[in-house]
Amino acid sequence: VVERVVVVGADAAGMSAAHQALRVARAHGRVLEVVVVERYTHTSYSACGIPYWMAGDVDSADRLVARTADQHRALGVDLRLLTSAVALELDARTVTVQGPGGGTEQLGFDQLVLATGARPRTPAWALAGDGGWVPGVRAVKTLDDGAAWVAAVTGRSAPGGRRPERAVVVGGGYIGIETAEAFVRRGLETTLVTRREVMSTLDPDMGARVRQGMTAGGVRVVCSEEVDGLDLRRDGTVAAVRSAGDAFPADVVALGLGVEPATGLAAGAGLPLGAFGGLLPDDRQRVADGVWAAGDCCESVERLQGLRVYVPLGTHANKQGRVAGENLAGGEARFGGVLGTAVTQFVAGGVHLEVGRTGPTTEQATAGGGEVVALVTESTTASGYMPQAAPIAVKVLARPDGRLVGVQIVGGPGSAKRIDTAAAAMWFHAGVADLAGMDLSYAPPFSPVWDPVQIACRRLADRLADRPG
Ligand SMILES: Cc1cc2nc3c(=O)[nH]c(=O)nc-3n(C[C@H](O)[C@H](O)[C@H](O)COP(=O)(O)OP(=O)(O)OC[C@H]3O[C@@H](n4cnc5c(N)ncnc54)[C@H](O)[C@@H]3O)c2cc1C
Repeated sequence: VVERVVVVGADAAGMSAAHQALRVARAHGRVLEVVVVERYTHTSYSACGIPYWMAGDVDSADRLVARTADQHRALGVDLRLLTSAVALELDARTVTVQGPGGGTEQLGFDQLVLATGARPRTPAWALAGDGGWVPGVRAVKTLDDGAAWVAAVTGRSAPGGRRPERAVVVGGGYIGIETAEAFVRRGLETTLVTRREVMSTLDPDMGARVRQGMTAGGVRVVCSEEVDGLDLRRDGTVAAVRSAGDAFPADVVALGLGVEPATGLAAGAGLPLGAFGGLLPDDRQRVADGVWAAGDCCESVERLQGLRVYVPLGTHANKQGRVAGENLAGGEARFGGVLGTAVTQFVAGGVHLEVGRTGPTTEQATAGGGEVVALVTESTTASGYMPQAAPIAVKVLARPDGRLVGVQIVGGPGSAKRIDTAAAAMWFHAGVADLAGMDLSYAPPFSPVWDPVQIACRRLADRLADRPG
């Protein structure tokens, strides 16, 4: 018997599910026909690499594609590009797809994987009358966005090859920061406008360190400003970004306002959605009988508290897709939840700043009324006498009983990935004293004798031990 699996979406989550399903089915002696439908033309690409393509580190879109359509087909996937899933009938077990010619077809399935991803938040002011982008304005999301940005910053898309001079980035999250880095490195005069502090996934005092670094690297950072419109030139291209009290001149405007789950297809079929608008898979990535979901279209479960959160990252999309593929093919896999671990950098204008974070911010961790004790510790990334020693600030958040809540890091080269030590400890429910005592490596080029994360945890553990009562 051949069972048909239909996967909607051919990027990180969808293709991880497709290949894991084929691998596991083979091992179980099952025969699967795996059909993947993808609305656009690209498969398995690294959106995460787009800012570095914009900056000039990566020379073509091809380098960001992990597996091409032909490679997927050679591995046994029936991949249909330029094909959208437009309707889903769970009772009939069919998905209606619309192919490149505009005609529709009903595909029956035994199992379905929803891996429809997310779409960038796009305010009405960014769109022209025809529904397309105002010329010069665009999100940073797909490879097509990346290509448009590379053409813009190199002057290839402007009459006479004129390169833009002034860029505004709207949004201060990690995509906004990475895009600002790309613009500065391309020689653009860059302003970043954001509603709160830069990197609002950090506590404001740590976000302020990122802002100071970016400012030193040549970005004009404007916080606490909400962009609410644009000024246009007579030819319809963008001239400035407007907030209530100010205007920021711009030849190009990049939007980094976050994403929301693309769940129209699932909602139309009556599948339940959560508070963030995402699908609600269980820890096997199952959303209904024979229906699985993975990646940015899903909410996740925060590992330590069990709360539903929306953390749309490639690291989760790959793992969740693999779990879905494994389970639908008869295997047994579970997704262990998320901590919100993430890293980014701003490296431009002579500044090298790295950021890492895991766990909730103080604001999030105290929202339910719980107490959090936090401490910022400054040290260096290598032994102080080594030439490569750079400053690093580590903020540790813990409950009064010493349970680790979160860690945030801002520092020079070699800082960001240190967050993984904290994430690994938190994953296994460690406390600050446990992490302070773990067997971590040391040699002068890499670390002080006590790793900066351990110094920070040790200091916080001492402080908690000294607290009265
Ligand atoms: C600029 C940028 C930088 C990033 N950097 C990082 C990073 O450093 N680290 C990290 O972990 N994550 C990063 N991410 C996030 C990461 O790229 C996403 O989490 C990941 O791509 C999600 O994969 P996905 O397969 O769930 O969804 P997507 O990549 O959104 O793919 C969904 C696919 O489904 C298709 N689709 C949707 N609806 C339909 C339909 N009805 N019919 C047919 N096809 C459909 C879409 O066309 C799309 O190809 C970054 C994202 C961006 C944009």
